[in-house]
Amino acid sequence: MGDLSVMETLHRMYFSLTALMFNGVLCIMIPIMDKDNSNRNRSFSTLVFTVFFGNLLTCITSFIRHADSIVIDPRYVYLAYLISCLANIYVTGFFSVYMESYFVDKHEPHPIVKTLNRAILIASPIAMAILFICKAAGIGLDPTTAAAEPWVRYLFGYAFELYFLLYTLIFFSRHTFLLNKRAFITALWGVVLTVGGIILQLLFPMILVNYVGASLALLLFYFGVETTDYRKLNKTLEELEVARESADRANQFKSEFLANMSHEIRTPINAVLGMNEMIIRESKDPQITEYAKDVENSGKNLLSIINDILDFSKIEAGRMEISESSYKLSQVIHDLTNLVKNRADEKGLELDLFIDETMPNDLYGDEVRLKQVVLNLLTNSVKYTEHGSVSLSVEGDAHDGILDLKIAVSDTGIGIRDEDKDKLFDQFTRVDVQHNRTIEGTGLGLAITHKLITMMGGSIEVESSYGVGSTFTITIPQKIMSDEPIGNITDRYARGSGAADMYRRKFSAPDAEVLVVDDTSMNIMVFKYLLKETEVKIDCANSAREAIIMSSQKKYDVIFMDQRMPHMDGTQALNEIRKQKDGKNTDTPMVCMTADAVEGARERYLNEGFDDYLTKPVEGDLLEDMLVKYLPRRKVISES
Ligand code: ADP
Repeated sequence: MGDLSVMETLHRMYFSLTALMFNGVLCIMIPIMDKDNSNRNRSFSTLVFTVFFGNLLTCITSFIRHADSIVIDPRYVYLAYLISCLANIYVTGFFSVYMESYFVDKHEPHPIVKTLNRAILIASPIAMAILFICKAAGIGLDPTTAAAEPWVRYLFGYAFELYFLLYTLIFFSRHTFLLNKRAFITALWGVVLTVGGIILQLLFPMILVNYVGASLALLLFYFGVETTDYRKLNKTLEELEVARESADRANQFKSEFLANMSHEIRTPINAVLGMNEMIIRESKDPQITEYAKDVENSGKNLLSIINDILDFSKIEAGRMEISESSYKLSQVIHDLTNLVKNRADEKGLELDLFIDETMPNDLYGDEVRLKQVVLNLLTNSVKYTEHGSVSLSVEGDAHDGILDLKIAVSDTGIGIRDEDKDKLFDQFTRVDVQHNRTIEGTGLGLAITHKLITMMGGSIEVESSYGVGSTFTITIPQKIMSDEPIGNITDRYARGSGAADMYRRKFSAPDAEVLVVDDTSMNIMVFKYLLKETEVKIDCANSAREAIIMSSQKKYDVIFMDQRMPHMDGTQALNEIRKQKDGKNTDTPMVCMTADAVEGARERYLNEGFDDYLTKPVEGDLLEDMLVKYLPRRKVISES
């Protein structure tokens, strides 16, 4: 029996009745929502309906319990109280389930806690039904009073609700870092409003407000993170994430494939070029030598295509790095002219050099990449010029310890049409295809050149008149190490040497002992041929195991070790040899020989303990340089 008039009871319920209207609107909106049948979708719908019915039941039971005009059996008032408690437990319980759904797949609650929560939700209505039966039948409970026993009030009126609220707060605060900003702010305010409503109810028992907070929270959730648009956006973002991951994986596979392909192609080219080098060195028949030179050219072209593809994939993957050190500009110019002189001679082209004699010679930058970009421009000029000349001009503008190195490569070749100039630096793009059909090329060279120059902080420009010739000018800032000028090197290098290709022994070392380890016997043969003139004594091992045994029996001056071998690779063999007890070769210099030329390979092998690194195909010249670098001075007889 109530203690308030009907109007007073209704006044008391104004807030909850308004909240009920909001709940009703949401209940209408829910079926219109995009159904994605996700956990979150289901738990939000359940929560909305639970809050609506919870609020409705609480309003009805409150009215029954408090309005004085309603005369009702105390047992039913008791039942109304139990129902409102149950509604509160369900609302807080489903609120926690909804919060859990934010972290589904990312963090699941502990199974024991999950079971306990579900058990409370299942056991509460059963327990209340039993309570009501006992009350109605007068078993242990007084059927004449409507007021609930204190333990019933504490347990069903407060304890379970508080438990669920506390659980939600702890679960939410422990995993908030998994949420995005928008979900975090919405969920935080949702929790604050729900808990706030319940606290307000405790502070002001005379007005019914505990559902107001929860209802506002639901509206916030609905417009914050549960609208169809937001869900679609989230779904799209998730799909994008999955697509990104699979693209990353595909890219990773591509890199591995390229690395493998490069390795597989380099290995046979090593044999082809190595054997061919022997033909060039030993043949007395000029016709045969000419054929062999053609083989060499094609082999080198093939290699440069592989190198371009590898470089390009490195740039694409963001793994290309500029590694700077000090170098001599004169050496760079010397190497460049040497590399291009023969090609120019073969086509009957003049190679002109214009070097500013006052430029500093000692610079600091990435010598290898600098050479690569200028060589690419020079080879293009030779490739796309039939008559006339190719010229290389190098000058510099020094300021504040920096030299703005300006390198121009000009030719009197086919030139480039104005409309093609913009496309020049695009990957895989070849311009003027009509004229260039017979000239080999991948359309990657200038794209790589452009990227490398940009990475070095420089720029490239092109001037060209179609049918007359082209000039590519690059400007790259390099640090100056000393002011010593480069001097007059033009005469020396422009002459070049047509005989640069003729093999000349640099040294001999008949007392030197070298071990070469490779599972491909053809590679060993090439290695032995390439060093034949140096007269060094060469032992061969066909596997890592054999190398370990041989190195335990004899002291070598240098060990050349292949990397990829079956059963045990080069690095493992190196470690075994290094840690041999009383080993004869624990500190012998070891050079890694590998067809693995991907970025970082050199650093990796040096880190693993090798003293140096040679890529296959092994060039005779480089091999001799490498050998003499590690041989004891007393064993080397120099030729010059
Ligand atoms: P490619 O492997 O085809 O030489 P590049 O990226 O080095 O690829 O060059 C792209 C295109 O630019 C070439 O196909 C050619 O048409 C044009 N090109 C480059 N250098 C010159 C040049 N010196 N003279 C005329 N055309 C050139």
